[in-house]
Amino acid sequence: MHHLAGKSTDRKHVTLTTPSPWQRAALGANLLAADGSLGVTIFEEMTTLAVKTGAINLGQGFPDEDGPAEIKAAAQAAIAAGANQYAPGKGTVELREAIAAHQDRFYGLRPDPQTEIIVTTGATEGIAATLLALVEPGDEVLTFEPFYDSYGAMIGLSGATHTTVPLLAPDFMPDAALMEEAFTERTKVVLINNPHNPTGAVFPREVLQRVVELSARHNAVIVTDEVYEHLTFGVQHIPVATLPGAAERTITISSAGKTFSFTGWKIGWLSGPEHLVAAIRTVKQFLSYSSGTPFQGAIAVGLGLPDDFYTGIAKSLESKRDILSEGLRAAGLDVFTPRGTYFVNVDTSPLGISDAVDLARRLPALVGVAAIPVPVFCHPEGAERTRSLLRFAFCKKTAVLEEAAARLATLRDRL
Ligand code: PMP
Ligand code: GLN
Repeated sequence: MHHLAGKSTDRKHVTLTTPSPWQRAALGANLLAADGSLGVTIFEEMTTLAVKTGAINLGQGFPDEDGPAEIKAAAQAAIAAGANQYAPGKGTVELREAIAAHQDRFYGLRPDPQTEIIVTTGATEGIAATLLALVEPGDEVLTFEPFYDSYGAMIGLSGATHTTVPLLAPDFMPDAALMEEAFTERTKVVLINNPHNPTGAVFPREVLQRVVELSARHNAVIVTDEVYEHLTFGVQHIPVATLPGAAERTITISSAGKTFSFTGWKIGWLSGPEHLVAAIRTVKQFLSYSSGTPFQGAIAVGLGLPDDFYTGIAKSLESKRDILSEGLRAAGLDVFTPRGTYFVNVDTSPLGISDAVDLARRLPALVGVAAIPVPVFCHPEGAERTRSLLRFAFCKKTAVLEEAAARLATLRDRL
């Protein structure tokens, strides 16, 4: 019996002999409980818990302040001016041209806005359309582990096999030999995420170049999710597509959600060689056909903001990172300082904790703060390796982070 009524799962790793497509998606993201019942994503589970308990929500990654006023005003003006019917399936010309200009301004990349860029309904749809377009049963999709939940779900839905390379604490870099071993003749897609959610790692040139070389050797397509491209702290983000030998085999995915703090608008985009983009567009047009018309023009305005907007968001997040990290350290946790994203991971084992999933469920009631357990982003072996790790989001107002830190300082005494 499968109950579809949002029952919370025990988030154990489950195997079913002949899972149906939706079950493969749920299994891929560790959503299916041992009794076959279905859960919601870890983000929704923890946000619901935070709302119920009135806890500060440092779980699901969304900012508690809106992005730039001129972007909001542009969306409002677009609605008032009647930009309210379907946009072209591949996105408005205005936004595709703004994406191309952004790629050129920051990275010297020049995708053709007519044939090499499509707008998607968030990066999530970009990931979904790409995997459904490119992989099938018998293929392998290689990701780092921990991996963002939708990767596991969509690989599962596609019927391909999900293989992984571990990112190891404290710096969450892949081991070169393990990476080489993980590639096989069946590796069709390498799906990387840089800067990396949940670990906060930003991969250096050598790691990325290695991915490109191995992908070329195995004739794999590189899909790179760079939604946190502008959120790095003292290190440079290197788009994979800028590396020698990469452009002809790389699909780059990004989104307005993180850069402009409009996660609810769900405007994303992807770019890459025409033949791959055409294949992905074919699938995208039957997933959503097109994406929110008035928001597309507004995000085009955002992409044209001057450089100091981009440096400003990274600087402000860096100081938020430091405030929360200091609080987490003072609470007795081991902090893995992130170089990018708006997430910081901690090891809770210094407080005698060995099960971060259990702790995450108790944390809101214990101290009034919600976080995300890292093992849910892993297959069983990786879950064992990360079993005491928790992820906290720091894209919140300074006062909120300070209050969260004060609450977390009491954790030790409440366990
Ligand atoms: N990829 C990563 C790594 C993410 O963290 C997220 C979530 N914010 C997404 C994709 C989804 O982005 P979007 O909200 O644009 O669909
Ligand atoms: N990307 C966000 C995070 O990692 C959550 C997005 C979602 O809820 N699907 O927290």
